[in-house]
This record gives sequence, C-alpha cells and structure tokens, in this order.
Amino acid sequence: MLSTDDTIAAIATAEGAAGLAVVRISGAGAIAVADKVFRGRGTLAAAASHTLHHGWAVWPQARRLDEVVAALFRAPRSYTREDVVELSCHGGDRSARKILSALLAAGARLAAPGEFTLRAFLHGRIDLTQAEAVADLIHAATERAHDLALTQLAGELRQRLDQLEEKIADAVAEVEARVDFAEDVGGIEVPPHVVQAISEVDLELNALLASATYGRALREGARVPLVGRPNVGKSSLFNALLGEDRAIVTPAPGTTRDRVSEAIELAGLRVTLSDTAGLRDTVDPIEAIGVNLAEKALDSGTVVMWVVDGSETLEAADRRIAERLRGRKVVAALNKADRGSRVAVAEMAAMVGGESPIVTVSAVRGEGLDALRSALAERLGARSAEADAPVTHPRHAEALDRAQAALRRAAKAAADNEPGEIVALELHEALAAIGEVTGKAAGEDLLDRIFSRFCVGK
Ligand code: GDP
Repeated sequence: MLSTDDTIAAIATAEGAAGLAVVRISGAGAIAVADKVFRGRGTLAAAASHTLHHGWAVWPQARRLDEVVAALFRAPRSYTREDVVELSCHGGDRSARKILSALLAAGARLAAPGEFTLRAFLHGRIDLTQAEAVADLIHAATERAHDLALTQLAGELRQRLDQLEEKIADAVAEVEARVDFAEDVGGIEVPPHVVQAISEVDLELNALLASATYGRALREGARVPLVGRPNVGKSSLFNALLGEDRAIVTPAPGTTRDRVSEAIELAGLRVTLSDTAGLRDTVDPIEAIGVNLAEKALDSGTVVMWVVDGSETLEAADRRIAERLRGRKVVAALNKADRGSRVAVAEMAAMVGGESPIVTVSAVRGEGLDALRSALAERLGARSAEADAPVTHPRHAEALDRAQAALRRAAKAAADNEPGEIVALELHEALAAIGEVTGKAAGEDLLDRIFSRFCVGK
C-alpha cells in the first residue's frame, strides 16, 4: 500500500439513493484510464487542469453506463498530488459501481481504505496529523469535535510541532558541533542558550500535553460511570443529571441490575453517563452480572463519579470502593444532603486525593447539580468552554510524553556535565518521538493502523 506506482480507483460517496455519486481515480495512469471509459467532446488527455467535462461513461465499447461530469486535476495540484479524475454520476447503487468496474477493467486497481489520503501524506502535501484530521472530520460527533478536526486539518498542530522540531534540531547541531571539536571525550559545556531552548520546548510540550485529556474526550466523547454501594442514590442522581426518569429508583438495595447509559453535552463534550449496579458482593446471579458490568464501566471510565450517602457515616463497603478507585480520576458526590451531613469530608478527601472534588448534592431536591456538573467538566480538563485542545489523539499524547521525557534527560545530562554524546542522543530521541506524530518518523505498521480507520474512497 505504500507504493504509489499504480493507478487507484474507488467510489468516494456513500451508497444509497442520492443526487450524485463520485468515482475517484488517482495515479500516473489516471487520465489514460479515465479516457478509456469517458466519452466527451474531446479527450481528457488533451484538456487543461482544473476543468470540467460533460459526457458519458461507456463500457465496453459504446455501451452507456451513465451520464457524467469529469473533473480533471493534474499533478501536483490535486488531493493526492498525482493526476486525479473525479467522475460525478447519478446517485443510487448502480451507476457508480458500474463505472468503477469499468475503470478497474480499464487498468486501475481498487483503492484500499484511506489510500487517497495516504498518497497525499506520502507525497508531502499533508502531514500525519492532518491525515488523521480528515478521518476525525468524517467521524466528528459534536460541533466542537468538528471544529477541532478543522483546526488540525488546517495544520495548526503540524506548525507547532514543526517549530519544536526545528528548535531541537538546532540544539542537536550545536551540541554535536561542540562534541566534534572537543579535545577529550569528557563532558562538554552545553551553552546556556541551548539549555534555554530545551526548557522552552519542554514548556510548550507541557501546554500541549495539558490539553490531551480534554482533547481526547472531545474527539471520542467521555465515559462517566456512577459507582457506589447500593442505595446511596446513584440512579436518582443519574436521572437528575439527565433531567428525566431513565433508571429505576426503588428503596430496595440492588435493583439496578444492568447498566443504563445516556449521553449529555457538557462543556462541548459528549459525556456518556452510566448508572451501574451497586458495587457489593452479591449472591444473586443476575445482580452479579450487573456488578461485573459496573466493574468494567469503572475501568473504562474517563472520570468516575463516586456516589456516597452523605447522611450516614461511611461504611466498610464505601472504603472498599474508595480502595478500588485509587489512581483514577474521581468526582465524589455526597448525596442526600437534605437529610443532613454525617460523612467526614476530610476522611473522604484523604481517600480520593486532593485533586478530586467532593460536591454536596441532593438528587431528590435537585440541589448542587450545577456544581457537580462544573466539577465534572473541570475534571475532564475543560477549564473553559473555549479550552484550547490541540492534542486530541492518545497516540499524539503518548509520543509527546516520550519526547518530553527524553528532553528532560537531555537537560539533566547537560546539567550533570555528562558527555555531549549523551545529550545529543537524548535530543535525537525527542526528535524521533515528535516525528512519529507528524509522520516524519512513522513506520509502516503505524501508517497501516491509521489509514485502515478510513473509509474506502477517502
Ligand atoms: P442506588 O441504589 O444507588 O441507585 O439508589 P437509588 O437512586 O435507587 O436510591 C435509593 C433510595 O434513596 C431511594 O429511596 C431514593 O429515593 C433515595 N434517595 C436518592 N437520592 C436521595 C436524596 O438526595 N435525598 C433523599 N432523602 N433520598 C434520596
């Protein structure tokens, strides 16, 4: 798939009844292949770039397949930077498929998912973050996610990363030049402005990484399971947050046996709340399935909402749940505030950690819900509705994290007067990690994984 020698073709539009369908052809032979199927006033081979031609698609010989308009884009001013022809025909299931078959018989190969975009990347028209933005754009679930994909498609992340790469590359060059001229193999003096540049890149990476939780939640949506021991009011709170009666509320413990999920929009995010069975040891087999699902929800949650009955003192079961939540992002809701408060907030804070907000609410009275929503939004990383979130892919965050670790090792090696080669080596590692994000240093496996997410024809 990494070869761009042959000519590829695919239907670029969705199937079904529609006004138009588009069949796309790209490659060195695109115009010759199209000319075998297209009959217009003249040949496409004789036509200028960026022109439209009315005619018929015919195959074999003069048998009409459909009336079409051919759009001609000559290399390098096309989506793929290769010669591209797009044949617009009538929608519906038949026309485009017949035309595609004719093009394949005329010498084109069926394109793999994302192969047109892959070629745009391989020819350097876009980087990997922009290629990924194309897929994000198509799959965007909220307005905010769509906006973000457009920003990334326009190359904002690419430009920021290009600048960082340039700074690191300059630092490497300076360090290596000093190593080359050094008399002995011992430590070299890393000049202050290079140390300064490294710390500037570190700061910029901090800013990028800080946006990653919110960015990922924007792209993928966030999952927030409500967990807690039975009867603390999880279902009531779930309903109150949704503003409608969705889950069964009863005074008997253990009545929510399955998971009920519903999405709300919070700070531009699509947040799926799920009401889970109470986490407790149970002998009822059906309830046990629910408890099992609750455990799974807990593990896949972006942030976990821990619900506690604040009108009673904490029980052993609450403490066991707190134990399970260790190391996770938590928002704690102290429910049943209308019945008074008996829970020691300080003890809870000690259990969930200082970063996890504890909000007092009453699900039945609808009190404290706004505070709970903002605490949740904050925990999801949305400091404001306009939160700048350039890093939306976990893949990017993971690689940038490695880049930052390498940079910090470089800075430490420089401060400790270690050999210049070590400093240079760490800087190269940081460069390689950033290169994975932009695609400069992306392996075939990675490209495969990214482009297989695309639809055929994109
Ligand atoms: P779950 O088992 O944790 O899902 O708890 P439910 O939502 O089914 O509620 C258990 C019981 O607590 C029901 O009788 C609710 O009416 C009651 N309850 C829930 N929230 C509150 C609250 O804020 N105040 C009071 N007084 N009762 C509540």
